[in-house]
Amino acid sequence: MDRAWWSLQRRDDAALGFTARDGGYSTGDFQGLNLGAHVGDDAETVERNRAEVLDTLARMSGARALRPVFMNQVHGAEVRVITEVAQLDEPTPATDGVVTTLPDVALFTLVADCVPILLYDNAAGVLAAAHAGRAGMVAGVVRATVNAMREVGAASIEAVVGPAVCGRCYEVPEHMRAEAAAAEPVSAAVSWTGTAAIDVAAGVVEQLHREGISLSWLPGCTKETDRLFSHRRDGRTGRGAGVIARVQRRD
Ligand SMILES: [Zn+2]
Repeated sequence: MDRAWWSLQRRDDAALGFTARDGGYSTGDFQGLNLGAHVGDDAETVERNRAEVLDTLARMSGARALRPVFMNQVHGAEVRVITEVAQLDEPTPATDGVVTTLPDVALFTLVADCVPILLYDNAAGVLAAAHAGRAGMVAGVVRATVNAMREVGAASIEAVVGPAVCGRCYEVPEHMRAEAAAAEPVSAAVSWTGTAAIDVAAGVVEQLHREGISLSWLPGCTKETDRLFSHRRDGRTGRGAGVIARVQRRD
């Protein structure tokens, strides 16, 4: 089932991946492995796609089953922290970061050009997923997520930044680039036609670096890569995901 994944990795107790359009059951505008439930796709099909991702991740990581956690993403900097199993049954609050200390829980961040960020401290048993578009990067969702991880015991955090729209492809009005640059100068970019643009992922990576977090940054521009969902390219479309779970040791 590797075909269903842009990148699927096992890092000690943490299993993580970033999905592509490959695989899945959606059709039309949502063709492939659409994981977004609020984009107009058939709800049952989305559930089937999500189950495929969970099954694949569980099989790869040796988990018996994984419980999924999705966010209600709003381009802000609020973070949900889940430390008790009972919280999994609560209504989903509006956040762009989610942290857990629970094993066998799969945290999802949904994207179609925005930056998916997965974080983990295996020694402390703390995981997180975050969603950063332009507004979230400027609002500080990265630091808020890292702080929330540290509050529940994370000390040595590693991060993986997934594919997102690149700085050449994210053309914006000049005032918008200036706003982003005021928050993160490294995010100021130039488009393919020489106009103002923003490299949101570069801003995210700089923010992680500033927090002292070791990271890897996966290649691939969503807008330039047909097998990835891109709102900029297609408008009405599906959502891919970054997903991470910590597998309970059973030895
Ligand atoms: Zn690009």
